[in-house]
Amino acid sequence: MNLTEHFTLEEFTASQTAARLGINNTPDPEALANLHNTAAGMELVRTFLGGVPVKISSGYRCLALNAAVGSRTTSQHVTGCACDFTAPEYGTPEHIVRDLMASDVPYDQLIFEFGTWVHISFSPQNRRQALTIDHDGTRAFA
Ligand SMILES: [Zn+2]
Repeated sequence: MNLTEHFTLEEFTASQTAARLGINNTPDPEALANLHNTAAGMELVRTFLGGVPVKISSGYRCLALNAAVGSRTTSQHVTGCACDFTAPEYGTPEHIVRDLMASDVPYDQLIFEFGTWVHISFSPQNRRQALTIDHDGTRAFA
């Protein structure tokens, strides 16, 4: 099922952990509505990145899956408002965060996570907060 022109529901719900543990990661209607908004935000990101392929590594996570990957229950992944992605044809995750920060793409939180991927969330009141999270903790992205 396509959420938007370039993003499918499957991309936002697929999880190797869910498959391995037999967790049903099907979103409820509220999360599905949020996923439509998240995919729409990711279309803006994709366009900003010049239309390169964007690989979603984690999108929606039901509470059981979210707990299984060691994330907090307050994670925006649980509500379908966040996703983690890379776009290697554009550049490194750090490069992407730096450029998105300077763009006019709306986002709630933009996080350079563990040196490896970009976490982005979208909400009705986008805060445009950019952070780095790694084994040293959480801090403003700089
Ligand atoms: Zn994330």
